Amino acid sequence: MVTGIAHEINNPLGGMQNCVRTLYLEGYDENVRRRYLPLLEKGLKRVDSVIRNLLDFAKEPQFNFSEHNLDEIILETLKLVEYKINENNLELKLDLNAGKLQYILDLNHLQQVFLNIIINAIQAMPLDGILSIKSEERLDSLFIIISDTGMGIPEENLSKIFDPFFTTKDVGIGTGLGLSVSYSIIKGLGGRIEVQSEVNKGTIFTIVIPKKIANEIKISN
Ligand code: ADP
Repeated sequence: MVTGIAHEINNPLGGMQNCVRTLYLEGYDENVRRRYLPLLEKGLKRVDSVIRNLLDFAKEPQFNFSEHNLDEIILETLKLVEYKINENNLELKLDLNAGKLQYILDLNHLQQVFLNIIINAIQAMPLDGILSIKSEERLDSLFIIISDTGMGIPEENLSKIFDPFFTTKDVGIGTGLGLSVSYSIIKGLGGRIEVQSEVNKGTIFTIVIPKKIANEIKISN
C-alpha cells in the first residue's frame, strides 16, 4: 500500500522537479514559462487530489440510512452504466430476489460500492462477456453477487486488490481506489466483500450486508 501511494506522489513530483529545473535555467523565455508553469500546476493538482483521496479513504464513512428497496438500488445503478454495457457488447443476466421488502439502507454508499464493482467487471470484459447480478436474503444478511466472465485476477494480486492505489490499469483509467473505498464502506456497514477469481474465466464479488427490515425497525421503536 505504501509503495502504491509513494508511486502516485512520486510520478507528479518527478515531473514538477523537471519543470522547476527548466524554469531556473530558461525561465526568462516567455514560451518556456508558458509551457512549464501549467505543467507545474497540473502536477500540484495531481498531488493535491492524491492526498485528498487518501484522506477520504482514512475517514470513517458518514452513513445516512433510510428505507429502500435493494433491487431498485441495483437497477438504478445499472442505468448509470447501461451505455458501457452496450458499448462492450455485454449480456446482462439479472436474478434479483431481494426486492419484496423495504430495508434500512444507505442509498448513496451502496450505489457507490455497486458502481465500483460493476465498472470493474465491465472493464474486465472489453469485447464481450456476461455480467451477472444476483441479490438474495439469507438469514440475517443481504447478499449481492456481481460476476463477470472477464480476464480474472491473478492469484498473486488477490491479496492486494483492496489496497488503496493498487491498480493494474493505465494512468487515467485506474486510480486503485474503487475497491479500497468499497471495502471500507461495507466494513463500516458491518458486512464483508468476498472475491473469487480465475484468470481468463472471470471474477465473482460477493457483498454481504446485515439485513434490517424497515417495518421491524419501526415496530421495535
Ligand atoms: P481501479 O479499478 O481504479 O484499478 P480498484 O480498486 O477498483 O481500482 O481495483 C483494483 C484492481 O483490482 C484493478 O486494477 C484490477 O487489477 C483488479 N480488479 C478489480 N475488479 C476486477 C475484475 N472484475 N476483473 C479483473 N480484475 C479486477
